[in-house]
Amino acid sequence: MSKIAVGIDLGTSNTVVSVVHGNKAHVIPDREGRKVHPSVVSIHPKGDILVGQEAVRRRVIDPSNTIYSVKRLIGRTFRHESVQAAIRRAPYRIEEGEHQQPMVRSRGKLYTISEMSAFILRHVKKLAEQYLGQPVEHAVITVPANFNDAQREATKAAGRIAGLNVLRILNEPTAAALAYGYGQGLNTTLAIYDFGGGTFDTTILKLADRVFEVLSTAGDSFLGGDDIDEKLVDYMAQLFLRQTRIDLSGNVSALARLRQVGEQVKRQLSQRPKAQVQVQQVAFGPGGQPLDLAFSLTRDRLNSMAKELVQNSFLICDEALGLANIDVTLVDEVVLVGGTTKMPLVRESVEGYFGKAARADINPDEVVSVGAAIQAAALLRMPGMEAGVDSVLLDVTPRALGIAVVGGYTEVIIDRNAQIPVEQTRRFVTSQDHQTQVRIQVCQGESRRFDENQALGELVLDNLPPAPRGEVQVEVTFEIDTDGILQVSAMDMETEQEQSAEIHVLGAPSQEETEALIEKHASDLPATE
Ligand code: ADP
Ligand code: MG
Repeated sequence: MSKIAVGIDLGTSNTVVSVVHGNKAHVIPDREGRKVHPSVVSIHPKGDILVGQEAVRRRVIDPSNTIYSVKRLIGRTFRHESVQAAIRRAPYRIEEGEHQQPMVRSRGKLYTISEMSAFILRHVKKLAEQYLGQPVEHAVITVPANFNDAQREATKAAGRIAGLNVLRILNEPTAAALAYGYGQGLNTTLAIYDFGGGTFDTTILKLADRVFEVLSTAGDSFLGGDDIDEKLVDYMAQLFLRQTRIDLSGNVSALARLRQVGEQVKRQLSQRPKAQVQVQQVAFGPGGQPLDLAFSLTRDRLNSMAKELVQNSFLICDEALGLANIDVTLVDEVVLVGGTTKMPLVRESVEGYFGKAARADINPDEVVSVGAAIQAAALLRMPGMEAGVDSVLLDVTPRALGIAVVGGYTEVIIDRNAQIPVEQTRRFVTSQDHQTQVRIQVCQGESRRFDENQALGELVLDNLPPAPRGEVQVEVTFEIDTDGILQVSAMDMETEQEQSAEIHVLGAPSQEETEALIEKHASDLPATE
């Protein structure tokens, strides 16, 4: 039996899996024919782990054990703003674990975020196995271009826990570009415009012959289709207040219902100019009578609610073009990615901004996983090759990477937007007399001040020969591999003692933890039937 490798778009809202079969990429459906699987996990009282649509059904009846949007948490430290925001909003419990990791507690058990993502990956792995009728072991998993080291490591760990050999962690926009341009020898400048459920990203790529070069990337992790749903929820709650004098603020379950309905209405309005909305039993009146909400909504009205959010996406496009140092008129092709680009308003606005028709010939929901499958097939054919037979991928680092130096400042070691893989070495000297140890604190971000950047972890170099300050030299090397994962090592130049003790990546599981989880889940019974 020939080896099979799938491509997986592990999204915040939805996950999609594809495979190349007979030289063509196919999106793999489940038994009901659905190709987009909600990234939702629900821990059933009987112990079953439900994933996808089955889990979504439990969001209303069992919210505290139904876990969604874990991509907002993966590889983040507990104190990170996106984790704290999730704690305020999510109906499930998030606690702090080792190495400042957020953990999810459900039915008395604690799960790492990588484990939650692994449940989703295992689910789509099984769908692929059913569909293909053979085991699937290899995968390329995509991540946002601006994912940092910890987020990439935690995602790779999730793949391994799910029983997958992760051939590559690939950037989502690069995958989208591959889906359009693989093996075609195009010479073109491409803008990938990805408007998803929770996030917006844009990336500028240059395709020259067989080289895919990322020129720049920018994004907003708090801008997505969910924000449009939220506007609709506000609108509906206002209407309800006017009609019934009942204030729904604080009524968690009523607002959850409105959110669900709002999302459906939003989708309907992508197809037609007007929708009739009926929500039964939103709340109960003073005499206990059920109160419904009914109204009609036009696409124009929805557009006016969404307009500002959509406009915000173009500020990020401005930033990406600025970083790539190109004018908008030099973009040859614009590719739409993500469910929110199905809104006519979004599409029209994109075409207005770029001054040309946008491409959506590959379904915006599927294009990332299709590109990942193409990459997976290429890597399987030519292991060890950079990108497979036909293309070379040149990705870049989303943020500057540096270390803390005296005075609370940051010394950048690898610049933002540097091409990967990359290796950089800098020399430093001790700052105190008879110093025998240096702590190398690693961060990412562009601020001069260390504490304004995001700390990634630290490495300690011990047993330095005691000497006056400034005399002992230490060489620090940062290496970023093709998965975008950072390796830090330090060497004391006197003794040539190298210390590449793996940095403790904050917010991500440690090596040992991942191995233990792989072990644990290897013996799991099939759980997602
Ligand atoms: P992610 O990459 O974050 O997982 P997706 O690309 O799957 O997200 O996009 C999900 C978002 O797309 C949700 O906000 C969803 O409501 C929205 N969406 C999906 N289909 C449509 C549609 N036909 N019209 C408008 N919005 C849509
Ligand atoms: Mg996506």
